[in-house]
Amino acid sequence: MSWIGYSLRRGILSTRYPLRADSMAPAYRGAVESLPANVEAQALGAGACLSSALTAAGARARVDRKRCFQCGECARRSPEAFGMRNEFELAEVAGNPDEVRSLLRERVRGLGRSVHLRHVDAGSDGSEEQELQAIFNPFYDANRLGIFLTATPRHADVLVVTGVVTRAMAQPLLAAHEAMPQPKLVVALGTSACSGGIFSRSIAVLGPVSDVLPVDVFIPGTPPSPLTILHGLWVALGYAAARGRS
Ligand code: SF4
Repeated sequence: MSWIGYSLRRGILSTRYPLRADSMAPAYRGAVESLPANVEAQALGAGACLSSALTAAGARARVDRKRCFQCGECARRSPEAFGMRNEFELAEVAGNPDEVRSLLRERVRGLGRSVHLRHVDAGSDGSEEQELQAIFNPFYDANRLGIFLTATPRHADVLVVTGVVTRAMAQPLLAAHEAMPQPKLVVALGTSACSGGIFSRSIAVLGPVSDVLPVDVFIPGTPPSPLTILHGLWVALGYAAARGRS
């Protein structure tokens, strides 16, 4: 009885995102912001980036968010040219976001009101898996959005791939994709899955997920926060527009 009383007093604590806005803590390092600065300041910050995510160019440096692992070193080294924002909606698609959004809506029309995710770890360090699990906890509660995990690719609508694709996992990954019924979507989750990140030159690594499978949505981050993942899945289902390619 005390738990019932406690629950009634506290009310519903689950986030309503993405149906209502939510935010991360001010100190959260989400997106790198490229500020207007001279080329020397841009090059100073770009030189600090271990994943080659930054290129000095014109008035502002170019940022490849799919390569960024959110260390914040560029902003520390060159605060005139770079800053870190607590923005968490980082998902990208290849091509025009609005066109891709209607294409995705068309493809998921046949899926009904719920979707099942099949997760494959292709070479992750384990951090993306923790955040993916977190979207099913009582606070983020992805089930309220009709999003579920499934243990078999034959029941899956969305293939979620974490980690850079290692040579050992390329074939199992292709087999999982092959076993999924149409229509099917592929989501690359985490910076390593999106771009290969700092592991891309290893001899054990084949490359990012897009080298092996056609990726519909990229969700960068090392690891992406649960809100970032919910946003990316919402993009994959065509309910939200994403960024274009950086
Ligand atoms: S935050 Fe780190 S990884 Fe991202 S662009 Fe800056 S230096 Fe590179």
